[in-house]
Amino acid sequence: MKKIQVIGGGLAGPEAALQAAALGCEVTLYEMRPHRSTEAHLTSDFAELVCSNSLKSETENSAPWLLKQEMRRANSFLLAAADASAVPAGHALAVDRTEFSRRVHERIDQNPNITVVREEVTHLDENDAETVIILATGPLTSPALTAELQRLTGSQHLAFYDSIAPIVDASTIDMDKVYFAARWDKGTADYINCPFTKEEYDRFIDALTTAETVPAKEWEQIPTAPDARHCERSAQRGEPALSEVEWEEPLDFAGSVDTSTCAPNNLPVRARTNNEQATTNNQLKYFEGCLPIDELGRRGRDTLRFGPMKPAGLTNPKTGKWPYAAVQLRQENLRADSYNIVGFQNHMKYGDQARVLRLIPGLENAKFLRYGQIHRNTYVNAPVVLTETLQLRNHPNILIAGQLSGVEGYTESIASGLLAGRYAAALAQGRTPTPAPRTTAHGSLTHYITHAEGKRFDPANITFDLLPPLEEELRRKIRDKKERHRIQCERALEALTSWLNSMAVEAKPSYSAPAP
Ligand SMILES: Cc1cc2nc3c(=O)[nH]c(=O)nc-3n(C[C@H](O)[C@H](O)[C@H](O)COP(=O)(O)OP(=O)(O)OC[C@H]3O[C@@H](n4cnc5c(N)ncnc54)[C@H](O)[C@@H]3O)c2cc1C
Repeated sequence: MKKIQVIGGGLAGPEAALQAAALGCEVTLYEMRPHRSTEAHLTSDFAELVCSNSLKSETENSAPWLLKQEMRRANSFLLAAADASAVPAGHALAVDRTEFSRRVHERIDQNPNITVVREEVTHLDENDAETVIILATGPLTSPALTAELQRLTGSQHLAFYDSIAPIVDASTIDMDKVYFAARWDKGTADYINCPFTKEEYDRFIDALTTAETVPAKEWEQIPTAPDARHCERSAQRGEPALSEVEWEEPLDFAGSVDTSTCAPNNLPVRARTNNEQATTNNQLKYFEGCLPIDELGRRGRDTLRFGPMKPAGLTNPKTGKWPYAAVQLRQENLRADSYNIVGFQNHMKYGDQARVLRLIPGLENAKFLRYGQIHRNTYVNAPVVLTETLQLRNHPNILIAGQLSGVEGYTESIASGLLAGRYAAALAQGRTPTPAPRTTAHGSLTHYITHAEGKRFDPANITFDLLPPLEEELRRKIRDKKERHRIQCERALEALTSWLNSMAVEAKPSYSAPAP
């Protein structure tokens, strides 16, 4: 039997290691902490939750609930640890993070099939046919390993930043002020256009350039070269860059926000924050292809009019002319109940962001379902480089799990670790791994990351938009959304159970896990 190396002792790595070990594989788990830390971790614990302590909703028949139910059925070790360390949190599963990590640690420690090595992995041997590798080093993968991954996947297939455009509730757009049009009348008129007069544009730029931005953290710098200096822990250690509030924001969207996986062009840009004193280093490096609008606004009064607010070709049917500037809104989901403000990723604080965005004609009373954000996040271009069993297409003995694979969030990362551990065990035992069924939340999440549009791949949380919809006939019969979701959940759980049963017949575990 081949050996398994799991790299990364965050959320995906320990789950993968425990799954593979429970299936009788010999696993070595590598974690670089405490010798070297990331810019967000504070401890050397396994399964450290770097920010909020929430594993999201437990409301029955919600998408996050479905994912967790599937994980429970598949004997997720980390979810069992989370359940056992739960603290009261209404409809959410929130955990005592210290207790959660302690339980995970204990599980790994007690497992005779797992050897822990505390060192930074800097090299991957893709030609070692006797070893299956699971790479689960997360959004803050160390620079040396990032360089290795670039070598294996091609640098164009690795993103360093996640930039998220704001999303607006469609019912709060003033449709009398906006118009549908396609630029130069090419294609169908799918975009909503918000037209600006010169006065409106000037007022918007003034507000934008004086708005308060989220203080930039030193560690948010992008490594622009494989040998980029690893950011030293900044003075603001212990203060995660993304506040809990940001991660508690409703993220129930699957769709493609305008956050194109940007290729670095190594152009350093001076980003002046209004909080210069909050950071010891304001030399932020952004990708030119996805600059925040606040930065563009500061570069020159007209920069936005020649960028994301370009009016050319957007004839307003009411005037027969192009407006002075325009903001475009793109439908976010099939229900068309939310719209993405195209290219409007930004660094503004939420309060100021709402105030500034409501200066866009038509959005005066807008409700924002999600605000714009920019944060460091290393992830592969999964649709191009990964198979449905999380293997690198060019190097099938290397699997990618967790946030690095393009899933987003604690629970999703654990879920992908669960799959990777099982797939790796199959490979180590000479079997062909069977992907999780498409109808399940696990399968849908993996289907999304491996089949999304590769040119603009954005990481995703689990949502119903990722699951296959009910058949047209059933949809016509059942108008109630909750009932539709209930049926989707029921189907998913049935499919997952059959998949687990079929795998149980193939695999012969040599080590059975004790109850949590
Ligand atoms: C600042 C910040 C705040 C976040 N807040 C939230 C939140 O509130 N809610 C949420 O759902 N998600 C949040 N996320 C996303 C979060 O990172 C993931 O949800 C989750 O931690 C990813 O799990 P993972 O196992 O993929 O990576 P991680 O949990 O980051 O684990 C990766 C592990 O790999 C180790 N490692 C890295 N490089 C090497 C190497 N070369 N050799 C050996 N070990 C290495 C790291 O030390 C780390 O322990 C946040 C992310 C960041 C960066």
